[in-house]
Amino acid sequence: MKAAQFEYHAPATVAEAVALLAEHADSGIRILAGGQSLVPTMAYRLARPAHLVDINRIAGLDGLIDHTHELEIGALVRHQDFAASDASLRLNVILAHIANHIAHRPIRARGTFCGSLAHADPASEWCLVAATLDTDLFAESVRGVRTISSASFFQGIMATALAEDEFLTKACIKRPDADTRFGFFEFSRRVGDFALAACFVSFRLVSGIMQDVRLGIGGVEDFPRRLSEVEHFLEAQAPNSGLFISAGQLASKRVRPSAVDADYRTDLVKTVVNRALQHAHGCDQANAVRS
Ligand SMILES: Cc1cc2nc3c(=O)[nH]c(=O)nc-3n(C[C@H](O)[C@H](O)[C@H](O)COP(=O)(O)OP(=O)(O)OC[C@H]3O[C@@H](n4cnc5c(N)ncnc54)[C@H](O)[C@@H]3O)c2cc1C
Repeated sequence: MKAAQFEYHAPATVAEAVALLAEHADSGIRILAGGQSLVPTMAYRLARPAHLVDINRIAGLDGLIDHTHELEIGALVRHQDFAASDASLRLNVILAHIANHIAHRPIRARGTFCGSLAHADPASEWCLVAATLDTDLFAESVRGVRTISSASFFQGIMATALAEDEFLTKACIKRPDADTRFGFFEFSRRVGDFALAACFVSFRLVSGIMQDVRLGIGGVEDFPRRLSEVEHFLEAQAPNSGLFISAGQLASKRVRPSAVDADYRTDLVKTVVNRALQHAHGCDQANAVRS
């Protein structure tokens, strides 16, 4: 099928873009970033925006910037750009690793981090990252800039706190302590498919004890979220394989999948949690992330 008719706009500045969003908010307007989710949904006529705002010609939105306390990700940072970021920083290394799990090379060359957050697919790897780590999202409109924390950004399947006339110009992930370990594991039927279940975890090891544990699950519920009970279970424990298995079992009891294959996904949670923890601890040699 072909997309329904729409009017195309290519603003040169953020100010022009937000003015267009304000002007056409009531008649159906969408931002076009990488187009890797929007264009297929328009082709199937699941989305029929009357106006498209192509942001790809706006200068200054492609910065992936290492600040001391945060990683700034502009609206035009593509999935593949994380591969070229500073590999001496553990956060950057795990993000480059995770990016490789998103779709296929051509999609990674166009699709954007911020577009993934705005699209809010329940299985999106970037939504899982943002939900697990402290992330501030900057939404611009003619009313100004508002900062939305990732904890309140995701509201349902493909539903976010963004208003119709808001433009997500950047996301900033607060950089965890330098000695933080990260682990990621996802299960999908084929390489490049959306994950049926995924886990992202971070913790510090202080004198052999886990501290500052964060554990997020994606692909299972309507949107990714941290499992605080599992985090508390792991906090102040010495990492070991029995503990990781128990954490997976506890996590599977705490998720409420909405998909038809709920039992299957609940079972997968045991494995993805165990494997993500192993990854962070460095005992999963096949996927180990080193600083
Ligand atoms: C075959 C295939 C496999 C895929 N597999 C995966 C996968 O495994 N994991 C995964 O996470 N994704 C996957 N994707 C989706 C891909 O990662 C997209 O790139 C991503 O979901 C959206 O980014 P985009 O820049 O392409 O956004 P677009 O398609 O341009 O836009 C998506 C939506 O977000 C809105 N939007 C975009 N940018 C902004 C912004 N800055 N501010 C406000 N709203 C904005 C748009 O208006 C639109 O509604 C897959 C896509 C395909 C086609």
